[in-house]
Amino acid sequence: MNQNHDHHSIRRIVLPSGRCIEVVHFHLGEATTRGLHECPDCACKLVQPLQWNEAPHGCWELLLHCPNCDWLEEGVFDQDQVDDLEEQMDQGLAEMLCDLRRLTQGNMAEEIERFTAALRGDLILPEDF
Ligand SMILES: [Zn+2]
Repeated sequence: MNQNHDHHSIRRIVLPSGRCIEVVHFHLGEATTRGLHECPDCACKLVQPLQWNEAPHGCWELLLHCPNCDWLEEGVFDQDQVDDLEEQMDQGLAEMLCDLRRLTQGNMAEEIERFTAALRGDLILPEDF
């Protein structure tokens, strides 16, 4: 595997607790380990993290839960595995995080707030467009 490409990106993740963190994501190729979203007991692919804690060396301590068979596992996983889990997680949540990132990017949150406030107050009329 060629690991000479050390380009990385910073990703913002909102934890279930509401805390927002920024993680550095290194692109080092495909992970070879089992996907964290897959339950080893029943092969259900809807495993969700119940808790996230930062662990040493850029790893994460996760409490994983399978909604199908109630399998629980606490373990320390590396960033690639956690990124993969995030990608596989519930589509609705992923889209919400994506929207949030889009709004945050380009500092548009304030604009949008002003816009929706104006809409509520009927301050924007069709002739404004
Ligand atoms: Zn299961």
